[in-house]
Amino acid sequence: MAELKRLSESRDLTRIERIGAHSHIRGLGLDSSLEARDASEGMVGQLPARRAAGLILQLIRQGKIAGRAVLLAGQPGTGKTALAMGIAKSLGAETPFASVAASELFSLDLSKTEALTQAFRRAIGVRIKEEAEIIEGEVVEISIDRPLSAAAGSAAPSGATAPGKTGRLTLKTTDMETVYELGGKMIEALGKEKVQSGDVVALDKASGKVTKLGRSIGRSRDYDAVGPHTKFVKCPEGELQKRKEVVHCVTLHEIDVINSRTQGFLALFTGDTGEIRAEVREQIDTKVAEWREEGKAEIVPGVLFIDEVHMLDIECFSFLNRALENDMAPILVIATNRGITSIRGTNYRSPHGIPPDFLDRLLIITTQPYTEDDIRKILDIRCDEEDVEMSADAKVLLTKIGVETSLRYAIHLITSAALACQKRKGKVVEMEDISRVYQLFLDVKRSTQYLMEYQSQYMFNEVPGEADGND
Ligand code: ATP
Repeated sequence: MAELKRLSESRDLTRIERIGAHSHIRGLGLDSSLEARDASEGMVGQLPARRAAGLILQLIRQGKIAGRAVLLAGQPGTGKTALAMGIAKSLGAETPFASVAASELFSLDLSKTEALTQAFRRAIGVRIKEEAEIIEGEVVEISIDRPLSAAAGSAAPSGATAPGKTGRLTLKTTDMETVYELGGKMIEALGKEKVQSGDVVALDKASGKVTKLGRSIGRSRDYDAVGPHTKFVKCPEGELQKRKEVVHCVTLHEIDVINSRTQGFLALFTGDTGEIRAEVREQIDTKVAEWREEGKAEIVPGVLFIDEVHMLDIECFSFLNRALENDMAPILVIATNRGITSIRGTNYRSPHGIPPDFLDRLLIITTQPYTEDDIRKILDIRCDEEDVEMSADAKVLLTKIGVETSLRYAIHLITSAALACQKRKGKVVEMEDISRVYQLFLDVKRSTQYLMEYQSQYMFNEVPGEADGND
């Protein structure tokens, strides 16, 4: 029962994830020359910012931007987080993307520098190459270039094999150029199947079973089971082995957690990693450096996105300054909607609450408020994303509301209007549903107005002159 409940909860969570605030963003919506298409991959308008993000993307892909930082600055709801998501989606699965809100770094469980270190290491990928031996069924084309060895007693007729005979088989590899030789073991297995020159066989190395697939009708590549990537290597002692390069991509943080004895790898699933000791990280960095030297591993600098960056204090900024100097540093993308404000923990004011020395390192991309047309298109996309059918009139009204209040508020009204529509057993959201939820839920402007009117009835009201009603 409890299992079932958990299962259904996790299904609900998947659903919530699917229609999350940015689930409609599938990339930056750029063409091949990095020009922003007006509306593409869920992205609408905001053309200069998207073009700039496209250039950043190219730098990331070329590995040229490690250790740099980009600031997305703009008013609330102008798509800064959407842009960061767009970058993440365009990077593909292999490039790590870690995202935190600055306020999350101030937790009771972890020191803020530990939380930042973990965030950085979640954004640094390690591509580890391993050679793996595949010992299951393989398809080989065989041809016998001479009678089996005289050591076996009698020469076998050309093209035939016999059990227990030693001798030499010539194995043609898939590219038909390299010829390798096999020893007795293979011959033994093949012999039972009476394989002839030119036969194509599959050998299951685990069971030793050989299956005849047919006669060669050309290059081995003509057989489905042999891909052009199949590679054979010379086999010691007659063992046929196929070596394949297996590539694992993990983040430095994952390696840290797996090697941290106090936590163990299960912490990766719970996220409850606690502090990781400095010695563990040092050992891992040394090991990774060794792997890099030996050509076994490469570093893949990813992207670390820190939202609400004005919430960081001066110590965090000096940590960032230092961390960006590291040769494995990811690209840092930070976002803020603040103007000139004080730097947390100091009395100094600075643009976006960011210390000037750190500000000087940043490439700054600004986002602009949306036009009515952009808002209409974004709302259209959100209706599709949330599976909500809305009449044209209702969309016009919702767009108007979006212009008067905010894009976010209008987006929120979509689901609530759909519920209002469901309640009256309607199929399509109409103007009446929009008006209904507009009345039920206040936007910021109306909420402020309401507070101004009724402030005297609230506790600790701090509007000048009315603070305690005494002055
Ligand atoms: P804040 O400063 O308040 O954090 P923000 O600038 O990060 O705001 P977002 O959260 O990115 O704003 O945008 C608000 C909503 O509008 C999100 O659902 C986002 O996906 C959507 N949105 C914003 N800009 C675009 C765009 N250009 N194209 C499509 N959807 C967008």
